[in-house]
Amino acid sequence: MFKLRRLHMITITQKMYENQKRYRDELVQAIEQKVKGHEFKKTSGAYGVYPQRGAGDYMMRPRIISGIVTLNQLRGISAIGKSYSKGWIHLTTRQAIQFHKIRLDDTWEIMKRLLDLDIVTYGTGGNSIRNITCPALSGVNPREVFDVTPHAIEATKFIFELDETITLPRKFKIGFSNTEEDEGLATIADLGFIAKMKNGRRGFVIYGGGGFGSNPEVSVKLSDWIDETQILYPILAMKQLFETHGNRENRNIARIRYILKNLGEEKFRVLYERHLKTVSVNDLHKIEHLEDVKDFSKQVEEPMHGLPNTISRIRQKQRGLYSLYLHPSHGDLSCEQLDQLLDMTEVFGDRVEYRLSITQGLYVRNLREEQIVVLEKTFKDLIPSTRLEASIACTGANNCSIGLMDGQNLLTNLHTYFDKKETLPFIRISGCRNSCALHQLAPIGLEGTKLKKENKTYPAYKVYIGGRIKREGTLIGTHLATIAEKNIVNMFKELYILSNQKDCQDWDTLYSKYKEDIEKIIIGYGGNVNDA
Ligand code: SF4
Repeated sequence: MFKLRRLHMITITQKMYENQKRYRDELVQAIEQKVKGHEFKKTSGAYGVYPQRGAGDYMMRPRIISGIVTLNQLRGISAIGKSYSKGWIHLTTRQAIQFHKIRLDDTWEIMKRLLDLDIVTYGTGGNSIRNITCPALSGVNPREVFDVTPHAIEATKFIFELDETITLPRKFKIGFSNTEEDEGLATIADLGFIAKMKNGRRGFVIYGGGGFGSNPEVSVKLSDWIDETQILYPILAMKQLFETHGNRENRNIARIRYILKNLGEEKFRVLYERHLKTVSVNDLHKIEHLEDVKDFSKQVEEPMHGLPNTISRIRQKQRGLYSLYLHPSHGDLSCEQLDQLLDMTEVFGDRVEYRLSITQGLYVRNLREEQIVVLEKTFKDLIPSTRLEASIACTGANNCSIGLMDGQNLLTNLHTYFDKKETLPFIRISGCRNSCALHQLAPIGLEGTKLKKENKTYPAYKVYIGGRIKREGTLIGTHLATIAEKNIVNMFKELYILSNQKDCQDWDTLYSKYKEDIEKIIIGYGGNVNDA
């Protein structure tokens, strides 16, 4: 029988409140023009407030701890969205939400309302320890080693108590994963933890020095085992290493992966071990109380029955329960739809949970068969039925002030053209090389750029192929060609025709058997600025 035990979520401490309140003082100074715009931008970024495209528009990113969000918090978020953000919220690629098109003057009011919901915004941007990723299905996934949610939460509580987590040389990302599939992005993080059992004990394999953006790198393995009670030490050690050796002069080469690159793997590992030894002296940060949540990850051994898995319906390890994945187009969810979802699921009882994904979506967990059936009927528009429909595009040039291309528009065109066609893969589109959609990790990834030809520039995408994430097998995709935007849909049409000719039902089969044909098609479009 599934036993539910609520995790103790984070409540706002006085220290956290004081940290958040510092923003208000900075904002007042900015409004009174007592600080220069670029100085305020540095501060506001650390609080998740960024100017966005459009005169006077800003966006704000609240910190949704590892994507775990309660019904009450979602109600409050929806209310804020309606009051300040034109009735929409955006679900991100890192288990967060964003309010877009807000006014700078309203930002402190929004933050106060978030504080009432036990949500802060600091550390969601700028040079900070960012939201720690944790797979949205951790705790319910039948294939997991164990539930890593408690560990991600303990790590988050710990970093909230640390000083100077928003004045690092650059951003610092941490991920926890519960399976080999590494859905918490541990193998591409500055510091990553992948669950492992050893002699009946729960623990982790540790990875470090990875990261995305321009010059992406897969992490290196730093340790094959660390007991779950020791997870705070790698965090402290890596933070110390970063503070001591990170480049504060040039932000373009400041991430931890550049320290690794400069030193080489062996020296980096020695340095990490040295810091680990220093911070582990006296064992001050050993975690004693994780056993409290043991029942939460209880594995049910009985065979499962009922509805089959689909792209959006997942049978949980708890017999008779399901998770439903909702994927609003581009992650843009109307508050009206969110309210409808909350009204319907509230009556299902407090067993139901909500988790944000790393793919611009939302999971509703612990649903009974009759409940998931009703939700599937009601929210047809939010449920992807093909991998292409589950694809993601960052906010891009439409909203983001540094975006070069509007990948959301392209994705809409692809959805329209390839409606319900199964054989195209999951794709990731980033509006620029910053790779917020992690495009180099997808079977096909697109990066917004410009194509220069005969003294003219054309809107275009760099096309990457063959990326994937998996413990011991994460691959950064290969850049095959730079293709004019107007030819991208045609390229996909040709790939689709190829899948029909070869009678392949899914992309993985097509790619494994006909990789050369696929590459030939993509390369064939490279550099062509005429209609193909
Ligand atoms: S990838 Fe570029 S365009 Fe997209 S959200 Fe990130 S910075 Fe903006």
